Amino acid sequence: MARRIVVVGGGVIGCSVAWHLACRGAGEIVLVERDRLGAGTTWHSAGNILWNPIDMHDLPILYMLDEVIPKVTAESEQETGWLETGRLFLAHTQRTLESFTAQAEEGARRGFVSRMLESHEIPRHHPLLDPGVLTGAWLNGKVGRLNPADLTAAYARAARKRGVTILEQRNVLGIETRGERVTGVATDQGSLAADTVVVCCGLWSRRLLEPLGLALGQWGCEHFYVIARTAQRLPRETPSFVSADDLIYGREEVGGMLFGAFDEDAVPLEGGVPPNDFAFSLLPDNWEKFGPYAERAAELFPSLKEAPIQRFVNGPETFTPDGKPLMGPVAGIDGLLVASAFNSGGVSYSGLAGAMIADMVGGSAPRFDPAAYDPGRFGARTSDQAWMRQRISGTPSSHYREVNG
Ligand SMILES: Cc1cc2nc3c(=O)[nH]c(=O)nc-3n(C[C@H](O)[C@H](O)[C@H](O)COP(=O)(O)OP(=O)(O)OC[C@H]3O[C@@H](n4cnc5c(N)ncnc54)[C@H](O)[C@@H]3O)c2cc1C
Repeated sequence: MARRIVVVGGGVIGCSVAWHLACRGAGEIVLVERDRLGAGTTWHSAGNILWNPIDMHDLPILYMLDEVIPKVTAESEQETGWLETGRLFLAHTQRTLESFTAQAEEGARRGFVSRMLESHEIPRHHPLLDPGVLTGAWLNGKVGRLNPADLTAAYARAARKRGVTILEQRNVLGIETRGERVTGVATDQGSLAADTVVVCCGLWSRRLLEPLGLALGQWGCEHFYVIARTAQRLPRETPSFVSADDLIYGREEVGGMLFGAFDEDAVPLEGGVPPNDFAFSLLPDNWEKFGPYAERAAELFPSLKEAPIQRFVNGPETFTPDGKPLMGPVAGIDGLLVASAFNSGGVSYSGLAGAMIADMVGGSAPRFDPAAYDPGRFGARTSDQAWMRQRISGTPSSHYREVNG
């Protein structure tokens, strides 16, 4: 009999994992989602996919851009909305400028569109940006965006075509084990037997594993962006931007501007997890936190001072103490794996997650080195909620400090 694999959670990660497992012919695959596909964090993601030549995720992102997106689009016959816009990396300090110059040279050396812009060139790439407040800007061409809900639908459609069963509106209540082996999942509509269970529940992965005595090293935090209606309409192809010195990023959205922050002192969720019925939902607007970032954005883009805000999107998203996701087997329970906590990069790293889990379950040589993602790497400290809250609060901004080199 074919091996039965149950994937729990139908966000962008679970759908990519299911499709990658099916591409590998890993067994009979069932994906279980308690609401509708994409209902968790995926539906409101900004959908940016970032490539950076010195990032440890450099190769996984190239895999996503050059292999996963074209293949899943062709197989599913579902467009993802992928648009290569390039990105402007904005520097305010000499140190940041030097770091960007080195990265620009590395990108160019590897044959990508990647160069430092002269000040007079900047308005041609972004008409709303004031070059006078910058020390320089790096144009990185290998960057773009897509629609996360469409990418999730494409993974799911391609997975179904390869025989994956997708069960929506079915809640997984617990993981079933015998001795030290996983045997299936208990759902609100009966048990599903399985040889392998992959937990891809995003914000809720920690809660699902708690009854097994496990405290996954992840915690939910507020994470936000806004959409402003600018007086001047931006072309869709306008490069996105990041100003890591200001902890802000943004891009064009329906002719206006979407811009968000990687908060310095991010607000952890009470208990680390939203309620179970938090589907296609958002947290309340948090202008107290976002206000200072909006002011920094308006210094870069002066017309934002007058631009009405159409929408405030306040996450939540799941972060880990070191900013890297949790991917791999759960120690002590054979057949149980997780792919969770993507630190505001789950859309971009969905290809990496799918490939890594499929390699592990399929028993093939790992395409990407799993060492940095071991779910057990933080040890017993993850049971200490005060430690988790304090560490996670600093994770989002540390991400941008790395961007600056
Ligand atoms: C404001 C914001 C902007 C972002 N921008 C970007 C970006 O530009 N680029 C990028 O790459 N990433 C971005 N992200 C991050 C990205 O959206 C997430 O990392 C990604 O969506 C996580 O996907 P997931 O599948 O792990 O989780 P989710 O999408 O939350 O999916 C988990 C699923 O599991 C289901 N589930 C949970 N518990 C159970 C259960 N017991 N039984 C059955 N089903 C269950 C849930 O209903 C949910 O559908 C952003 C996030 C936020 C908040």
